[in-house]
Amino acid sequence: MPVISSNKPYRIGRSKTGLGLFATQPIKKGTKIIRYFGPMLDCRKKKDDAIENKYLFAINGRWTIDGSVRKNIARYINHSCRPNAESDVNTRKRTVFIRAIKNIAPGDEINYDYGTDYFKEYLKPIGCKCDSCEKKRAKLRVEARAVKAKDKKKAAKTKSAKPATKGKPAKAKTAGKAATKTSETKTSKKSSKTKSAKASKTASAAKSARTSSRRTADYARAASSGARLGPNLGPRAAGAARATPAASKSGGGFGA
Ligand SMILES: [Zn+2]
Repeated sequence: MPVISSNKPYRIGRSKTGLGLFATQPIKKGTKIIRYFGPMLDCRKKKDDAIENKYLFAINGRWTIDGSVRKNIARYINHSCRPNAESDVNTRKRTVFIRAIKNIAPGDEINYDYGTDYFKEYLKPIGCKCDSCEKKRAKLRVEARAVKAKDKKKAAKTKSAKPATKGKPAKAKTAGKAATKTSETKTSKKSSKTKSAKASKTASAAKSARTSSRRTADYARAASSGARLGPNLGPRAAGAARATPAASKSGGGFGA
């Protein structure tokens, strides 16, 4: 593990998803905590563009920081959907600082939002493990349990009410009504949930619009790793195509 000088307000520690960066001193909102740095990669250079790791942080369409270097402590910072920090990109200077957007207490894990593209590509499929998402899941579980219990109660009530309501059609009606009500309750609950989820998403998206470039690019790079094979294959394929007529000219073709 890299050594961190004792005057820094953070340390590397165990987090839910491996290692993370934790505050050791109170960090005030707005403070630049740490710089995210590493060699600058120019995507116009083939050699640079071929570099692939999960610590790439795109500054813009051309420049990307390769943050995989040991000294880049900021690479330990994990993603959160409700972060306490953000990545502040200066495209002109090509620098990135992680800055507190909340007051951070000693012991708190420092995190920032990696951006929607990264989230969709990497975190959504496996389930985001950030506190906010875990809490949300726990809440959903509790609510689902509550709805289930309510349904059971209602079902029991309908059953006990059965002897009172004589005649088959009436029974069916009651049951139908109960069912509709339950599903209504469920739906309205669901929609309100979706709304709040959406709202928080929008908020975090707005917040992270500026900050998302790193992992967005990260994602773009990863996503284009297949696409990047394209250009590589392209010329080769073109070369092969060219080779064929030449070969046939010399009489050694594929029986053309
Ligand atoms: Zn999350």
